[in-house]
Amino acid sequence: MEPSPEGAPRRRMSLPTRILLGLVLGAVVGAVLNVLYAPPLGEPKPEAYVRVEWWADEVVKPFGTLFLNLLFMVVVPIVFCSLFLGVAGLGSVQKLGSLGSRTLLWFLGTTGLAAVLGITLVRVIEPGKNVSPDVVEAIKQQYASTAQQKIAQSAGAKGWLEMVVDMVPKNVVGAAGDNTKILGLIVFALILGAAATRLPQDRTRVLRELCESLYELCVKVLGWVMEFAPIGVACLIFHASAKLGFDVMKLVGWYFVTAMGGLIFYQLVVVTALARVFAGLSPRRFYRGVRTLLITAFSTSSSNATMPTTIRTAVDEFGAPKEIAGFVMPLGATMNMNGTALFEGVSVLFLAQVYGKGLSIGEQLLVVGVAVLTAIGAAGVPGGSIPLLAIVLIQVGVPPEFLALILGVDRLVDMTRTLPNVTSDLVCSLWLSRREGHQLKA
Ligand code: ASP
Repeated sequence: MEPSPEGAPRRRMSLPTRILLGLVLGAVVGAVLNVLYAPPLGEPKPEAYVRVEWWADEVVKPFGTLFLNLLFMVVVPIVFCSLFLGVAGLGSVQKLGSLGSRTLLWFLGTTGLAAVLGITLVRVIEPGKNVSPDVVEAIKQQYASTAQQKIAQSAGAKGWLEMVVDMVPKNVVGAAGDNTKILGLIVFALILGAAATRLPQDRTRVLRELCESLYELCVKVLGWVMEFAPIGVACLIFHASAKLGFDVMKLVGWYFVTAMGGLIFYQLVVVTALARVFAGLSPRRFYRGVRTLLITAFSTSSSNATMPTTIRTAVDEFGAPKEIAGFVMPLGATMNMNGTALFEGVSVLFLAQVYGKGLSIGEQLLVVGVAVLTAIGAAGVPGGSIPLLAIVLIQVGVPPEFLALILGVDRLVDMTRTLPNVTSDLVCSLWLSRREGHQLKA
């Protein structure tokens, strides 16, 4: 506590409270300006709103991007060091196999569950039944060019076999240089760590010590970056809410309610129950530990950018061992996306309903399967799953241009789906820690 000028101790707000304050402030100011000045759908923008957009894009957004970049900056060294140390620390390839298979089982099980929940919700609520053709046309026109961009990005998507081949990078430095190709770096670190278990300890000591200090340094840097989080978060949220399509939100209201309701339900009920059952944590204890994690995930919309914070939360808040958190989180940030799978299930079925295409049970099961696979393949960056969603639409016979219908509200949905994406990784690492006999912090 710092002494005040009068000598009485002055309380400093805790970091999670300051970050939360930034979030609320950014959201409220952005939303108020949006509501006051944004034009109705399809009408030209008044000068006042053009000015709001200019401020949001040119002045506020750079500070948000700065925060995001600072987080991304430590991702590559943390992914490499934590995975290498995690695998090398396991001591044997057999142990890696058993930890790895449990981790994959968790990823597939929870992602599948989320996709099924998404589809079930759309079948019950039927959000696409009453969207009028005029509304569909108006929204499609407004977001046509963004939709085309996303469809163009999806054109570069590869077949499954090709994707597996590409997981092994030709050039590991190249893989480390692109946030959407981090899987290549992960595979390299895993293989190198496995190799380290086969060499005498003294031959790998130097690299292990180097990775340990690099890791510690990055965690220190992350601590500094998080001090900037209240401002960074406020800027990111202001930008998102000032430019959010509130008008479109009303037009596709039932879709919005279904997707957001499903994601919030998944986070509050399913993930909370998983934390109780698998990590033995009461809801109170769990949410006390994940406050900063949730706000970071929500404001950055990125599992990758949040990954160092997820590791820090597992280790510092819950007492998970570094090797397990460092093994699960990089993999989870790239492959385990529960919220994304739920969102894909909801979106595909909603757009099929709007298009007037009933999907058979077989096709719905196909959607579950493809939603799981694309959630694994999606990059943990803002909007990382949208190009893949275009592919799922094509597979079930819905024109990908229909994507336009959900783009106007996707920012908020993206922020929300990133929450279960990261908390599921966290619970997985806590479950595995307990299985390995580690006591979690009470
Ligand atoms: N933004 C999500 C994440 O990083 C990915 C997505 O669903 O677009 O977890």
